[in-house]
Amino acid sequence: MKCNRHGLERTIPADRARKVRRRCAFACVMCRSGLIEYHHFRPEFADATRHDPEGITLLCARHHDEVTRGHIAPIQVEEADAVRRRDGLEGAETGLSVRRPPLVLVGPLLLSGDLGTLLRVNGEPVLELREDDESDRGLLLSARLRDDRGALKLTIENNVITARHDNWDVRDEGAEVTVNSGRGKIWLRLKRWPPHGLHIRQLRMRFGGWSLDMNNRGDGRIVRNPSTIMRQSVSAITVAPGHSWPRQRPGPAAVRPSAPEAC
Ligand SMILES: [Zn+2]
Repeated sequence: MKCNRHGLERTIPADRARKVRRRCAFACVMCRSGLIEYHHFRPEFADATRHDPEGITLLCARHHDEVTRGHIAPIQVEEADAVRRRDGLEGAETGLSVRRPPLVLVGPLLLSGDLGTLLRVNGEPVLELREDDESDRGLLLSARLRDDRGALKLTIENNVITARHDNWDVRDEGAEVTVNSGRGKIWLRLKRWPPHGLHIRQLRMRFGGWSLDMNNRGDGRIVRNPSTIMRQSVSAITVAPGHSWPRQRPGPAAVRPSAPEAC
């Protein structure tokens, strides 16, 4: 059904959809999953005459299905939405798959092969990889990603991505997570590469006088204000043994998830 009986289209205007995402801290109000769908609950879509962000909530596919099939009552959705609104301090959670051989790319920097701290900036671990004791091939990735003011905005803890509630916008669509710091301002683009890892395609992170700039074209830059540091001579940026900033950037297109190689 494209429109309801009042002629209201199903598609929610982008600005209103973002308001709903922000109000629900980017997650299903019942389970915090970041893989979300929109659900009109006050009133239901069939009776709605407009897309009011206050009457729309976020549900994951499983909970949306349970609501549609009558396993969950409308009052329960309304209660969950109210709780999320009142206590909505925790952000969305989604999973990640990291299996041997691991493949982790940060801009043009390919980190693959070793375990431990993959990337450390100014003494702070940014990316860490360790064994999963419960799985033969599985690995656990953790990350702490800050914005250009040094505020922690997204973490990965043992393959669980948690986007903080105070981001301007978070969209977890397809294989990619996109986080905006403002209208038209993408702070992070993170692409899953199941089952082996992920690629941080875009990131602008700054803290302790350092900044990492990974742009949309696959270029990476590390700057210690006010001067630019050569990639190969950055002493405060360390990566796992055997890895360095490549002299010739592999670029996302040149690296196949099925054939990961250390550069
Ligand atoms: Zn859910």
